[in-house]
Formats: sequence, structure tokens, C-alpha cells
Amino acid sequence: MSAPAADVVVVGAGTMGAWTALRSRRAGWTTTLIDAFGAGHPRSTSGDETRILRAAHGADTFYARWSREARTAWQAFEAEVGERFYVEAGMLWFAHREDGFEAHSMAALTSLGIPVRRLSPTDLANGWPQVAANDLAFAAYEPEAGLLLARNGVAAVARTFARDGGRFELAWVEPGATDGRRLLDVVAGDGTRFPGGTFVFAAGPWLPRLFPDVAGELIRVTKQDVMFFGPPAGDGRFNSEWLPCWVDYDSATYGVPAVSGRGMKLAPDRYGPVFDPTNGERQVDPESVRLARRYMARRFPAMAGAPVVETRVCQYETTPDTDFVIDRHPAFDNVWLVGGGSGHGFKHGPVIGSYLVSRIAGAPAGDDEDRFSISRVREFRQNLRTGADAAHDD
Ligand SMILES: Cc1cc2nc3c(=O)[nH]c(=O)nc-3n(C[C@H](O)[C@H](O)[C@H](O)COP(=O)(O)OP(=O)(O)OC[C@H]3O[C@@H](n4cnc5c(N)ncnc54)[C@H](O)[C@@H]3O)c2cc1C
Repeated sequence: MSAPAADVVVVGAGTMGAWTALRSRRAGWTTTLIDAFGAGHPRSTSGDETRILRAAHGADTFYARWSREARTAWQAFEAEVGERFYVEAGMLWFAHREDGFEAHSMAALTSLGIPVRRLSPTDLANGWPQVAANDLAFAAYEPEAGLLLARNGVAAVARTFARDGGRFELAWVEPGATDGRRLLDVVAGDGTRFPGGTFVFAAGPWLPRLFPDVAGELIRVTKQDVMFFGPPAGDGRFNSEWLPCWVDYDSATYGVPAVSGRGMKLAPDRYGPVFDPTNGERQVDPESVRLARRYMARRFPAMAGAPVVETRVCQYETTPDTDFVIDRHPAFDNVWLVGGGSGHGFKHGPVIGSYLVSRIAGAPAGDDEDRFSISRVREFRQNLRTGADAAHDD
């Protein structure tokens, strides 16, 4: 059996695929979006409650600019569908030294005119007395950063795509027939074929499995544990109205304030073991809980001993240099691989979608976009997310 041919077939309805499908549909192309488990499901990397949207990326200005474009796009999408996905809670970067990620970020954001303020430990304690700041050199505060309601946002993008005439299919598919350097279709387990003109595999942590020759070495999939802690009864100080998102880069720990009635999120940002995104058990390691509690007690003393009210296991799909992959498959002119979000890709979904649709329409890669190449040799570099390889028993 064969489904109707589409101009563009997108495999994967996480933030990258769902936004690409919506942008493709709105470019006037017939578009089919296929996902094995649905949009924003809990095994996907986009399937957590929240993701941070921040502009600071150390000295890197590229992702800072993209992040601002993404912020505008998410806000426009909220206005269009009449639902809230972006909570502008602000963002605190806890700095332990004067010459680290935070100082570089402040210089980069200032050069781009993006609001950021330096706060002394005293400023911090005055503004947010629930934060213990006496071990910090300073904090960088991004007032226009915040959090995205991730899984709800992705599901809404996929719904909007379908409302606009896009075709959504629930199926696990693999590359099918080929003709020279062209892929002709993808095939589901029951034999259904989905023919198309262009194929986008936005398969997140499944890319190495689908394309072991191309992505097997390029993208490493690791288990990542996330804990949600319950604030004391009647205590709103850890809600998004009163506490920004925060990152302690050098301690490789980050958190998101409580939102939508859920707990305060905290994650020690160390790489976990290699993980199977389909069949991996999503149970957090007790060591992750121990590290989270220890950090919580140090930074948010009123939350010391707070109970874990929920946990999440997600997976990073990390490239060596934490730059994304957005490139043509080396063997096929009409196949694009998109992924390698490397722990910071969620927010960029709308911009990745626009970028990819423009590239499919024939636009060349810009000067700064060699970073997305599949074939480029990638050196390991300092993370754009946190210093995830920092020592944890400091
Ligand atoms: C713990 C954690 C914290 C993070 N924090 C942030 C943050 O604060 N801010 C931020 O911006 N980013 C963050 N990220 C990164 C961000 O979540 C990811 O970069 C992003 O969600 C990746 O989206 P994706 O669309 O590439 O992949 P996914 O969301 O994983 O989507 C891929 C989809 O493809 C489907 N699929 C795969 N193969 C097939 C197939 N063969 N057939 C059919 N369907 C298929 C899957 O079912 C899945 O739905 C974090 C990630 C983690 C794990």
C-alpha cells in the first residue's frame, strides 16, 4: 500500500520535525509528518514538561541570535493559537569566576544589544532571598529569558500543522526504495510506503540507529536524569512568578522553577550511560537524586530535604562540539538529517524549521552555518549547555 506522494516527508515530530513540517506546509508544499509514538511523547527528547529558552551561549553569538529569533517565533505562535507556551521567568547564571562562561556571555549579549545585567551576590540575595549566593563571584541575569512548556508546545505545533492541511501519520518508518542519489520513499513496518520529493529525518536520538554509517559516530545518545522537587506547603517562592530559571555552569547543574503546578526541576548535568531511546527504562539513578539534593540544599536552603515529586529520564543526543546537525545525507541529494540538539536544541525548533525550508528551497548555507555540516571534522569543545564534564564532588 502506498500513501499519497508529498512534496516533503518529515520523519520525527519533536521540536525540530514538527516545526519543519509546519514551515514546509506554510511554504505551500504538501507535507507528511510521521512519528512512531506521536508528537511530544515521553520517549522523545522534546517530551519533557519544560525547556529553558536563553540567549547566553558563552562567547558564541550565533546561537544567541537564533535564540532571540526563536523567542519571537514562539511568542507569535502563542498569539496565533491562543495558548501559553513561553513563561518569561528570566534566567540567572551563577558565576564562580570572572573569566568564565558567564562573563563571556555577558560580553556577547551586550554586543548584540540583548538585555543582560550583572548582579553582585548582595544584589542576588536582595532580589531572590531564597537563593544562597555567598559562594558566587556574581550572577548574570537575562530578564527576557524563560521557559517553554515543551511537550505541550510541540503537540500544539503538530496540531496546527494538521489543521493547516498537513498529513500526520503514526508509524515507525525506515528509508525505502532509492534511485541513484534519490530516496523515493520511506516504509512502515506494515509495508505502507510514503513517497515524497524531499525527506527530512528529524529523528533526534534515533538518528544513529537509522543512519549508523553517517550518524553513528557523530551523535552520542546518553541517559539524562531530571528530578522535580516539591516546595513546602504554602510556599510560592520556587514558582516561576518568583524564581527565574538558573544554570550553575561550572557546577554542571541547572534548574527550572515550578510551573503548571509541578515541582521545581533540578538536574545534575553529567552525561549518563549510553541509552536506547525506544526500550530504555526511564528510572532515575539514585546517585542523580543524591547529587540533586546536595546542590539543592546548598543553593536553595529552604528546599533542603524537599521530596522528589516526579522524575523524568530523557536522553541527550550530543555531537562532539555540541553544534547541531542540519545537512544533506552524503549519499542522497533529497535527504536531510536534522538533530544533534546536544542539550540545547529545543528552543530553536521554529528557527531550525525556517532555516531548513529555505535550504530545501535552494538557499545556500550562510557563512556561519558550516557548523551544521555532517562531514566537517568536529573537535570536542566546551559545551554550549553547561560544563557537563565538570567535577561533581567539589
Ligand atoms: C534533560 C534535557 C534537558 C534539556 N534542556 C534543554 C533546555 O533547557 N533548552 C533547550 O533548548 N534544549 C534542551 N534540551 C535539548 C532539547 O530537548 C533537544 O535538543 C530537542 O528536544 C531535540 O528535538 P528533536 O526534534 O531533534 O528530537 P526528539 O524530540 O527526540 O524528536 C524525534 C522524534 O522522532 C521520532 N522518530 C525517530 N525515529 C523515527 C522513525 N524511524 N520513524 C518515526 N518516528 C521516528 C521520535 O518518535 C521522536 O518523536 C534538553 C535535553 C535534555 C535531554
